[in-house]
Amino acid sequence: MDTPTRRRRALVLVGTVVVVVVAVTWALTGAGLLGSAASGAPGGGVPSAAGDAPQPDLDLDPDREPGVEDGVIDRGDGVTIFDTHLPAIANLDPALRAAVEQATTDAGARGVEMVVTSGWRSAHYQQHLLDEAVRTRGSLEEARKWVSTPDLSRHVTGDAVDIGYTDADSWLAQHGTRYGLCTTYANEMWHFELVTEPGGECPPAKADGSS
Ligand SMILES: [Zn+2]
Repeated sequence: MDTPTRRRRALVLVGTVVVVVVAVTWALTGAGLLGSAASGAPGGGVPSAAGDAPQPDLDLDPDREPGVEDGVIDRGDGVTIFDTHLPAIANLDPALRAAVEQATTDAGARGVEMVVTSGWRSAHYQQHLLDEAVRTRGSLEEARKWVSTPDLSRHVTGDAVDIGYTDADSWLAQHGTRYGLCTTYANEMWHFELVTEPGGECPPAKADGSS
């Protein structure tokens, strides 16, 4: 056997080994054996990381449109403080609700119709309103003069009501102290809180919600 022949046989042998290794690897991968060993079979006995992750909180989804359950009131519905089937009314502080009930009855007896345009709000709803205000007023600083943050809003704690219509706002601004109800922000004649004793005196209103 001459040298060129040995070299040729050696090359043939190496080539055969390479082909076999490639073929076996391809076969294992094709059968999903290597693939499943590498990635971990889904549905196996080992708990997946996703199962331990905290579930998404619906209230943290900024895209969820607030609804009645968040305290949204349809202004066209003429909702009053007596509509306790609505979360916006039911979740108000009971003392505030009682004061507004009395005021609504007394105003109505004098021909002044009193409606609630906003009462309790969920934090999600409040954030939604703030986001809207930032868009329409151009900055958070301007928006904060009209819409509070969820952690500061008196609506979120159930301690504030927005009253309509305009003549009812005027009536309540004039007579609210009888019930302990006061205008707390000078720029929001519709926003009332229970801040004094019935027959007491209202503290000076702040310029706006950010002050
Ligand atoms: Zn308000």
